[in-house]
Amino acid sequence: MVFITHIYLADESWNTLLLASGAGEVGRHMVMAGHAIQMDKEKSLVARASRERIALIVNDVRQEPDFLPNPFLPDTRSEMAVPMISGDKVIGVFDVQSSSTSHFSQEDANIYTTLALQVAVALQNARLYVEQSATVAQLRELDRLKSSFLANMSHELRTPLNSILGFADVMLEGLDGPLTDYMQNDLGLIYKNGQHLLHLINDVLDMAKIESGKMNLNIEKFNLQETIEDVTSITSTLANEKNLALFIEPDSDHEVEINADKIRLRQVMINLINNAIKFTEKGEIAIHVAREANNVLISVKDTGIGIPIDQLESVFQEFTQVDTTTTRKAGGTGLGLPISRRLIEMHSGRLWVESSGVDGEGSTFYVFLPIEAKIKEDEPKVK
Ligand code: ADP
Repeated sequence: MVFITHIYLADESWNTLLLASGAGEVGRHMVMAGHAIQMDKEKSLVARASRERIALIVNDVRQEPDFLPNPFLPDTRSEMAVPMISGDKVIGVFDVQSSSTSHFSQEDANIYTTLALQVAVALQNARLYVEQSATVAQLRELDRLKSSFLANMSHELRTPLNSILGFADVMLEGLDGPLTDYMQNDLGLIYKNGQHLLHLINDVLDMAKIESGKMNLNIEKFNLQETIEDVTSITSTLANEKNLALFIEPDSDHEVEINADKIRLRQVMINLINNAIKFTEKGEIAIHVAREANNVLISVKDTGIGIPIDQLESVFQEFTQVDTTTTRKAGGTGLGLPISRRLIEMHSGRLWVESSGVDGEGSTFYVFLPIEAKIKEDEPKVK
């Protein structure tokens, strides 16, 4: 007795059932030849099973006037076709043929129907998986294009802006001749707003570079204390304007030498200290450096407005600002902390904040860095 199984898959756009798999030499041949059955074909048992959505049995094909013999399968005497259904969709049809008559019973039909149901669900899941993978790949590509567009754009924007800032500065210095008070004032505003715009563009550029995996670190050995002293001297003007004490704690470790990207670590420290100044009205900003085995822990502690406990993580998300009048007054992009965290993580370090959220008790930002940076090239991120 010869027993042959075929699996047809529905192709709705063509209204056909396409042979996806067939047993034996004949089956392989039919698959290669692209054997297909129109779903609306009257005489086909396979097509009828897909239309009627139930298992159909023909126990003697010679007695069945409607039976359409397949020239490749001349020995067929009985046949059973079972639809594979997932949800309300017919995914395909299982077709089993036998060379003996009356081979299939209702019980066979029941067993095959249960089996076909499982196969249909598995097939549907596999298809969804393939579709999802394709969508993820597309999204990844879109995200890469977006970041690359932003990186190029911000780069192009910086060039004319630098020229605006340069000429405003030349005029403010009086190099192009004397200015009236109004001119001085207006040029001052142009310069200040231009600087603000430049800061914004630089942040967008950094974020885009990080997200597209194009941010490269330049690792060198340097003394941490010197870099932090340098950063405090740059930021001290702002602190003095607000009458805030800004200092490095005397019990800090002054000797630590670390291997890291000096410019990027400087950028992170400037951002943390500038934030501390921005969000503190009274008191001090204290920086502390401590060596812990092969790592270093830097903290920036202020006595400012603090950060509500439920927002201690969200401040590290892009464009997130704690919504207070101080924040609105202070301005900013909401990109400083996310960039800083990514930069520290690229060194295999961590950046986090602790705060009670009580105004006056302030916040403490911590930077934990390995002394020998273990570079993690940032993967392009999918949101
Ligand atoms: P920006 O400072 O440009 O708004 P950041 O990413 O640097 O962006 O900071 C995000 C938000 O985190 C700030 O808008 C502020 O709400 C909060 N924040 C950051 N540092 C402090 C701090 N030292 N004290 C209180 N809030 C802070």
